[in-house]
Amino acid sequence: MIPRTATRWQTTEWQLMLKNSIRSVEALCDFVEIDVNDMQQRHLAHKDFPVRVPTAFAALMEKGNINDPLLLQVLPQAVEMVDSAGFVEDPLQESDFNKVPGLIHKYRGRVLLIASPSCAINCRYCFRRHFPYQENTPGLAHWQQALDYIAQDSSIEEVILSGGDPLSASDSYLQTLIERISAISHVRWLRIHSRLPVVLPQRVTEDLLRLLTATRLQTSMVLHINHANEVGDDLAHALQAIHSYGIRLMNQTVLLKGVNDTVSSHKDLLEALHQHRVQAYYLHLLDPVKGAAHFFISDERAADLYEQLRCQLPGFMLPKLVRELAHAPYKTSLQDQAVLKMRANR
Ligand SMILES: *Cc1c(COP(=O)(O)O)cnc(C)c1O
Ligand code: SF4
Repeated sequence: MIPRTATRWQTTEWQLMLKNSIRSVEALCDFVEIDVNDMQQRHLAHKDFPVRVPTAFAALMEKGNINDPLLLQVLPQAVEMVDSAGFVEDPLQESDFNKVPGLIHKYRGRVLLIASPSCAINCRYCFRRHFPYQENTPGLAHWQQALDYIAQDSSIEEVILSGGDPLSASDSYLQTLIERISAISHVRWLRIHSRLPVVLPQRVTEDLLRLLTATRLQTSMVLHINHANEVGDDLAHALQAIHSYGIRLMNQTVLLKGVNDTVSSHKDLLEALHQHRVQAYYLHLLDPVKGAAHFFISDERAADLYEQLRCQLPGFMLPKLVRELAHAPYKTSLQDQAVLKMRANR
């Protein structure tokens, strides 16, 4: 089959769709045709972290189903406002690694740039839901400090555009930023961490793909898909277009109670990823962020679920089951954790 590179949509279309996103508990409930009786408490949760859902994503939810796995990721719950032991505002202590505004340098060889403060969607379990974005998103004119930091450390070979969601920035903003990164000679790789192609596939335009690949840097993209139902026809089309530009595609998933805590839901997701040539990369254990305790799954249950997946799928289709530890030098698997503990006790 000849790959189709032409996208069916226009650059301005996604901006309009983003603008028209669902932004209240009522509008979301109306859209999916559900009734809730604890609206007041849900409002408090919304005030803490506002509802934001593109209708393209909401359209993939089952009408009338209050337990829909996509809806649960975005619908504010009364329990978010109940404090839970161990669930805190900055669980990864990222502020320790926030060397200069807009940049997080935690792992050897790569840095993360907070390229845009906002996301197209607000996921209730997000570990950055309390992150001080406003202080951390330099306008283009102010990137110099972050770029100087990268230029001064020749061990940095990869720059990851993250956020927020980097693809919520405009094409021209991204183009300028990428040009300035590629001017630093020791940087070889560009990585985009984004959920936007998933929640608003119309973001993946010809112009975007061209600008992401019109650079000497080799570009890869890590998506964030949690459930097979997120993979609709429009996303499938966008993935095909991304592929046709030679961008390597990977995916990360967060393990979430009620959303994807069964073997069959992961099996469906991993098979859908393989079908669309997306490499499963990480399956993250939930970061203990304040307001997200109701999504928590114990290590024992996670390990059990993972073991069952290993018995059913080929190794290359499995993500690595990891957690982000505040001061570890890499994303740590449950097995790594056992090893680290042993070393510490020696
Ligand atoms: C996850 C993460 C990365 C990327 O880690 P990889 O293992 O290279 O995917 C880089 N920086 C920070 C702060 C991260 O949280
Ligand atoms: S898209 Fe990613 S960064 Fe944005 S709210 Fe969701 S999990 Fe958080």
